[in-house]
Amino acid sequence: MKLVQFIIIFLFVLSLASCSSSKNFSTLQKELIRKENSLKPMRVFLITNKQDSLLLRKKSTYIKPNPKNNILKHFAQRLIATVTDSASLGVGIAAPQVGILKNIICVQRLDKTDLPFEIYLNPVIKKYSVKKRPCPEGCLSIPNTRAKTIDRAFRIFIEYDKLDGKHYAESVDDFVSVIFQHEIDHLHGILFIDHLLEETKKTKD
Ligand SMILES: [Zn+2]
Repeated sequence: MKLVQFIIIFLFVLSLASCSSSKNFSTLQKELIRKENSLKPMRVFLITNKQDSLLLRKKSTYIKPNPKNNILKHFAQRLIATVTDSASLGVGIAAPQVGILKNIICVQRLDKTDLPFEIYLNPVIKKYSVKKRPCPEGCLSIPNTRAKTIDRAFRIFIEYDKLDGKHYAESVDDFVSVIFQHEIDHLHGILFIDHLLEETKKTKD
């Protein structure tokens, strides 16, 4: 009987251990993040590269919002360094775009004073407005393509965690709403060109 109890406890501890590790970066991801200092941009993955495009189509996973996680802080700084780098200047970027399949995005808050680039962990869209916001979109991972996307919601209600470990909820609208929708799509392996294909199909029907 005691042996059975021991096995049950052992399996329980084992499952907890594997669970907690999957909420964090893998060894390979940690190596990629730590390869350079926090001011160095990371390489942007492109759909024109076969290996890169396979990763860009994968789903990202949950990251534990632990304020004591120094690798997470280091990654957040490198993600901002990448999106503000002159070679890849944009208004937003998602972790898969630098090869890290974790639910982390960076959005330039054009609706705030000083237009800061902010990091969001595990962002989820809870509500979409019926009103649309047609917007020409581009993507750092899709070189030389800029086109109209017509099915973004004007306003979305989002929930997310931040680097301070707290959970937040807010509504964002207009162009900032479009940026959030674009970056959150990346976490599901969706690219803006997919929406264009959908729109083309609808027009044909
Ligand atoms: Zn993009």
